[in-house]
Amino acid sequence: RGKRAFVAGVADDQGFGWAISKALTQAGAEVILGTWVPALNIFETSLRRGKFDESRVLSDGSLMEFAKVYAMDAVYDSPEDVPESVKTNKRYAANSEFTVSEVAAKVKEDFGSIDIVVHSLANGPEVAKPLLETSRGGYLAAVSASTYSFVSMVQRFAPIMNEGGSFISLTYLAGERVVPGYGGGMSSAKAALESDTKVLAWEAGRKHNVRVNTISAGPLGSRAAKAIGFIDDMIQYSGKCSPLSQRELQAEEVGNVATFLCSPLASAVTGTCLYVDHGLHIMGLGV
Ligand code: NAD
Repeated sequence: RGKRAFVAGVADDQGFGWAISKALTQAGAEVILGTWVPALNIFETSLRRGKFDESRVLSDGSLMEFAKVYAMDAVYDSPEDVPESVKTNKRYAANSEFTVSEVAAKVKEDFGSIDIVVHSLANGPEVAKPLLETSRGGYLAAVSASTYSFVSMVQRFAPIMNEGGSFISLTYLAGERVVPGYGGGMSSAKAALESDTKVLAWEAGRKHNVRVNTISAGPLGSRAAKAIGFIDDMIQYSGKCSPLSQRELQAEEVGNVATFLCSPLASAVTGTCLYVDHGLHIMGLGV
């Protein structure tokens, strides 16, 4: 039987979540998506209208299909956490059961079990502000959406995972080195995510016999990254300073490593942060 993957954080064909979905599909997995509620409608419409068809082409010429797309908002764990103002918001009112526990329950109901869970989402409302100017609310929102969301997913999905199951998230160098411009508590959120990868690997490893890893990815001009504002500079810097500088990082390169990490080839790998960044993290000085 092929593996079944749940990928959270796909709302277009530009980001890492899409590339990971594609690499997993290419490797024979069935892919289910969890898409952020406010982005769901446009994503499904674009998908239906063929806007992503070029990006969906697999090596045999067929198009990548998603087994199902669930509405999801990873800042809420269960229905009682959703504020009234959100529930009645037009984009949310059209959907239901979008909290992490409800999505996990629906995946269990619809599919029975899961082998791979990918967390490819982040959000920091004050990302453009330096930490020195970040509010408590902005900081906590960044950690809630970008880090606790992963803890919450491991809590709810580990119990429905098959033997050999594997979790993966995406982190960024700014969690361990200073990257000016990556503000709003997003650097803190990534530092916490990297630490949680180890603690969750231990806890969920012992409790559920599953693996937990993170990929520290190089810069990609995704939708989320464009919102930060300095992504073009980061791509240029990476191209100038990393050991493999001849070309830009391709999302597919991250997709391939994610697929390896979630495969039996990596059955002894857990709690690690694997850099997929053309080696930029080893440099102490930009040249
Ligand atoms: P992306 O825009 O493709 O993905 C981010 C996704 O998160 C979007 O689909 C968005 O709808 C979703 N999202 C935001 N808040 C959510 C919520 N509350 N609930 C559910 N979904 C929510 O951008 P990306 O750059 O591919 O980001 C994926 C991951 O990669 C993130 O963790 C990001 O920090 C990480 N990363 C990105 C870069 C980069 O340069 N782009 C580098 C290193 C790590």
